[in-house]
Amino acid sequence: MLLIDNLCKTYANGVVALNNISLQIPNGMFGLLGPNGAGKSSLMRTLATLQDPDGGSIRLGNIDVLGDKNAVKKLLGYLPQDFGLFPKESAWSLLNHFAQLKGINKKSTRVARVEELLKRVNLWQVRKHKLESFSGGMRQRFGIAQALLGNPQLLIVDEPTSGLDPQERNRFYDLLSEIGEHRIVILSTHIVQDVNDLCTNMAIIKGGQVVLAATPQQIVAQVQGRVWQKSIDKQQLSALQDSCNVISTRLLGGQTLIRIVADTPPSDGFCAVSATLEDAYFYHLSQAA
Ligand code: ADP
Repeated sequence: MLLIDNLCKTYANGVVALNNISLQIPNGMFGLLGPNGAGKSSLMRTLATLQDPDGGSIRLGNIDVLGDKNAVKKLLGYLPQDFGLFPKESAWSLLNHFAQLKGINKKSTRVARVEELLKRVNLWQVRKHKLESFSGGMRQRFGIAQALLGNPQLLIVDEPTSGLDPQERNRFYDLLSEIGEHRIVILSTHIVQDVNDLCTNMAIIKGGQVVLAATPQQIVAQVQGRVWQKSIDKQQLSALQDSCNVISTRLLGGQTLIRIVADTPPSDGFCAVSATLEDAYFYHLSQAA
């Protein structure tokens, strides 16, 4: 279990990025969902011990994460948002190099580990190819291989699927789910679908604060039976935004499809729809404004 207690961080420019964040994160996939600027990367970097908070504490099992960074580094894998690569290196040689840096000194152990990981992330066939020839998805899978080198108990993955096509995204999802079976994987994202498809627990953060932490099913259940949909002309939108709690608008075949949350059935042409995690997410964000 990872226990985060009252983490605070204000940057030198006065931006409050973490405002008393507390979370309990069990084994499995944990989704950290929030709009851009919510504080996700700041939290990820703090958990990865790359940046100190101003206050608060983090415990991973028996380890005081902020007090014993060396112990944590042995248990930690981190895939940052902008993972820089050496374009002219092959996947095999760069992973071998990272393995050396990680202290896997015995050559036979290192070669076996590099081979195992490249197979695991499905890059064995292309191990001799230069990284510059890799697609976005292949690069992310390489990033996961390097993050798994030390067989971490805690894997932190920051915005991993932006820029991946749907097929690459699915392959990446499968890989993460497999990895999440036996350890804590924290996935930070602004893509609701990622959390919906992958995570057993999640938190919504905004403005450096936890808006809600629960299972995706519990979060959806909170708005179930209260979401209504209607197709309108664009000109009607602003009046409806004034009178209803509009959580999303979407253009569909020249019409605007709006979804609202209301406790009682709205009159004029709205129909009840089954709530999605996206509805719940937009609703909670609007409530937290
Ligand atoms: P997210 O990952 O959810 O987009 P970030 O943690 O990157 O959010 O940013 C949270 C807030 O902190 C934003 O307002 C951002 O502009 C600000 N911020 C992030 N890093 C720094 C920094 N190094 N110095 C100053 N402000 C920062």
